[in-house]
Amino acid sequence: MPDYGHLQQRLEQRRQQHLWRQPPLLQSAQGVVVQVEGQSLINFSSNDYLGLAADVRLQQALAEGASQWGVGSGASHRVCGHQLPHRQLEERLAALTGREAALLFSSGYQANLAAIQTLFGSGDRVLQDRLNHASLLDAGLASGANFRRYQHLDSNHLQQLLDKPHDGQTLVVTDSVFSMDGDQADLAGLARLCQRHKAWLMVDDAHGLGVLGSQGEGSCGAALPASQVPLLMGTLGKALGTAGAFIAADQVVIDYLQQFARTHIYTTAQPAALAVATLKALDLLAQEPERRQHLHDLIQYFRRRAAQLGLPLMPSDTAIQPLLLGSSARALHWSARLREAGLLVMAIRPPTVPRGQARLRITLTASHQMHQVDQLLNELEQLQQQEPLAFQEEAVDA
Ligand SMILES: *Cc1c(COP(=O)(O)O)cnc(C)c1O
Repeated sequence: MPDYGHLQQRLEQRRQQHLWRQPPLLQSAQGVVVQVEGQSLINFSSNDYLGLAADVRLQQALAEGASQWGVGSGASHRVCGHQLPHRQLEERLAALTGREAALLFSSGYQANLAAIQTLFGSGDRVLQDRLNHASLLDAGLASGANFRRYQHLDSNHLQQLLDKPHDGQTLVVTDSVFSMDGDQADLAGLARLCQRHKAWLMVDDAHGLGVLGSQGEGSCGAALPASQVPLLMGTLGKALGTAGAFIAADQVVIDYLQQFARTHIYTTAQPAALAVATLKALDLLAQEPERRQHLHDLIQYFRRRAAQLGLPLMPSDTAIQPLLLGSSARALHWSARLREAGLLVMAIRPPTVPRGQARLRITLTASHQMHQVDQLLNELEQLQQQEPLAFQEEAVDA
């Protein structure tokens, strides 16, 4: 038996730093109300922004998809796992995002690895917002390109990096909506900057697709076509309620990824039944704009009331509404108290967020009702009033 001492030591350290991750075990479907350890909780932690993850019409589409196309795809896309629903979904996603073509992946993590690692490498440079999603940062590091991070949303800093002379290709990468902060990049400004410096711009729209844009097309759409944002990534496991992801781009880029992207080639295609379910989600996106409207109303309402209560809001207009609490212990304490009151709000701690910036990551969805948001606000108000002094004085992690 190997000596596990070093593993045990690091695990113990995690626990002591209040960084241990103990996910709730759901004994129900995803939704606004979930069952956890026999308790019924109102869920403010999922990315199911449109409330589609357990929609009965998606369930039916998945079941019908499985009857017609089977369960497993049986092979990778390039061998014989690419079925008609996959192709239909790629065409619909390209149309929705206003791109020539799209390519499916089993997850957003894989899609980001594919785009960055396949198209950029040694001799190129990759510049990323420092708060980009971990999968983008990992991909930048793994690409072998010269990898630099610029200060969050700081186009002056990015400009300085772009001004340095460079021979190879340059890629600038940003989240559209930042996953732990909820704030948004100035995509039009970034696109102009990139055009001036002949750099590629890649946008990860995991939290924008389905929610933003007049048709739910996300942060780019026709206003920022492929000539300005040549690489667009979207995920299907958030607002669309299913699973998987895609890259949308000009045809030549998609052809190249199909031929060379290792995370596309060397993995089994997602089940076609899932693609059938996602096609249904895209129908609902078009047919039920009131979901997006209700979500935006809830966001406005939550922010107005939270500001009145003096809660530590962050500058976000999206469904992600974090409350910045500082220390990990404090974030865990608030989360535990909310849980006792029947509310599921997860604490987000380092290394997912920078040290001293632990927070509650509150997410709103189209399925929440106003009175549920009120219930959350009331509990937060009480917590703020009753909080032990020790937490109020403590600003950062030890
Ligand atoms: C969730 C997420 C991903 C990863 O997508 P998965 O399909 O969950 O692997 C990538 N980027 C961002 C910004 C995300 O929030």
